[in-house]
Amino acid sequence: MSQESETNYEAVVVGAGVGGIYQIKRLADMGIHATVLDTAGGVGGTWYWNRYPGARFDSESYTYGYSFSQELLDEWHWKERFSCQPENLRYLNYVADKFDLRKYMQFNCTLEAAHFDETTNRWRLRIDDGRELTTRFLIMTLGLLSAPTLPRYEGMDDFKGPSFHTFYWPHEPIDLSDKRVGVIGTGATAIQVIGDIAPRVKELTVFQRRPNWCAPLNNSEISDEEMADLRARYDEIFETCKRTPGGFEHEPDRRGFFEVSREERVKLWDRLYEEPGFGIWLQNFREIFTDEKANAEFSEYIADRIRGRVHDPETAEKLIPRDHGFGVQRVPLETNYLEAYNLDHVHLVDISENPIERVTEKGIQTSEREHELDLIVYATGFDAITGSFDRIDIRGIGGERLKDKWKDGPSTYLGIFVNGFPNMLMPAGPQSGSASTNYPRGIETGVNWSTEFLGHMWENGYTRADATEEAEARWSAHVAKMYSTMLMRKAKSWFTGYNSNVEGHEHGKTRYFVYNGGSPKYQKQIAEVEANGYEGLTLSRDGRHPEAAGSGDSHATA
Ligand code: NAP
Repeated sequence: MSQESETNYEAVVVGAGVGGIYQIKRLADMGIHATVLDTAGGVGGTWYWNRYPGARFDSESYTYGYSFSQELLDEWHWKERFSCQPENLRYLNYVADKFDLRKYMQFNCTLEAAHFDETTNRWRLRIDDGRELTTRFLIMTLGLLSAPTLPRYEGMDDFKGPSFHTFYWPHEPIDLSDKRVGVIGTGATAIQVIGDIAPRVKELTVFQRRPNWCAPLNNSEISDEEMADLRARYDEIFETCKRTPGGFEHEPDRRGFFEVSREERVKLWDRLYEEPGFGIWLQNFREIFTDEKANAEFSEYIADRIRGRVHDPETAEKLIPRDHGFGVQRVPLETNYLEAYNLDHVHLVDISENPIERVTEKGIQTSEREHELDLIVYATGFDAITGSFDRIDIRGIGGERLKDKWKDGPSTYLGIFVNGFPNMLMPAGPQSGSASTNYPRGIETGVNWSTEFLGHMWENGYTRADATEEAEARWSAHVAKMYSTMLMRKAKSWFTGYNSNVEGHEHGKTRYFVYNGGSPKYQKQIAEVEANGYEGLTLSRDGRHPEAAGSGDSHATA
């Protein structure tokens, strides 16, 4: 490869996670000169980084894996219904090797800056090792939750023992049996960590600000026979995922909540509580998401389940959320999480009552007392969706910074394009169908569509594509409008852009991060844009005036 070709690409994909791996596969198949950049030391994205104990899918493994290769489907044996992080990382490495994709990937390099050069219609990139690259198309597969955030407590550097965010859990095993461990946070991550480590640590103290509703994962192993059966049903499984709002096999109960008797409702809930996966959330009555009364009744049902599993009534009450109903935040699925609090050496500290004042050399000082610890785990979440974009100095036309444009929340066209940032594609971006669905199902949709779109550009000799301002405004308004009917619009959750540790992201102002119309509707809308000759986009060739694509952007999908 000449030096020239090592610095000038037709496409640069940023992120070697589930999205980046599939995107580079599609580009390699087309013979496009492309590369993938990633900060990590290997493939895997989320599954490379999050090595904390208990990390696993809460999507059924066989609906999470890629669907694009029959051979891959035939070869891979998912060992558990909800596969764990080491296995998921093995899977993604297997995919990278099977399709010989590593030769297109560059690791341990962070994209620091991407500036669009209007004279050449190319992106100029700066990598943290000092290299400068150029690319025609910049494809962002950064992941939704890849910018971890820490609290801003005084004294965090004073603590003498190890302390880290769950995202950076060390790669080497840690013996926890002689450790007094403190976990800050009770989100989906903490709920997995706590359930897993509680029985094998010396002492565990959980610092909870707000409890989270959760439900049992009900995981199990997948035998050879079961796997053979799943393989035979893959077509049917993926067809179902395509037509359900969440991209899972779970389909909502179409009966009206108030049309069936209380006994019928409880019968459904009793069944779903014992079943694996997100059924309790996604096979429930649809009113759970939109009707306060329905939501309150179901939340009380789950509260009783908590009371039934946690022995100490005072602790049980502390674990029941009061500020939001079940399912309006992303529901964590758990294994032995609630039972952890029945162990004598596990303590729940309510920091909404007794706030953390500072981290000390020895542990954590709350307003009540100092908790001595050997290890502190920050399970404090992410600057979700836009955080990973904000960390790169991305500048579009006229030097406009993406971070400034998105100061109050993202605005996009289809969740894939941003007006003023030509030739930048986000196959699973903010406001796309990916965030609110079984992520890989959304990713495959987004990557397939983006690849078709790039093919259209190359076939027709276009060198520049930009979303029109009008199309972007319409799409963003459409995404925002869908929040208005959902109870989750009020939630303190990453779905609404809330993060108490990031300035400007405190509760109060909703950021319209995710497309809530469901996967089938999203697929239909982007397919229509393609069928209408990419309406809402302005495509041009070097040195030529831009031309509006399709039949004009006047009927952009929103
Ligand atoms: P999260 O849901 O945002 O939870 C962060 C937790 O940390 C919350 O309990 C939060 O409390 C607490 N916290 C944050 N800052 C704090 C502070 N300064 N002081 C005290 N507590 C603080 O983050 P997450 O648990 O990492 O989960 C994020 C998302 O990742 C999930 O919703 C899910 O989509 C994904 N995830 C998926 C899986 C899976 O697929 N199995 C597993 C883990 C995570 P407040 O609520 O009071 O802010």
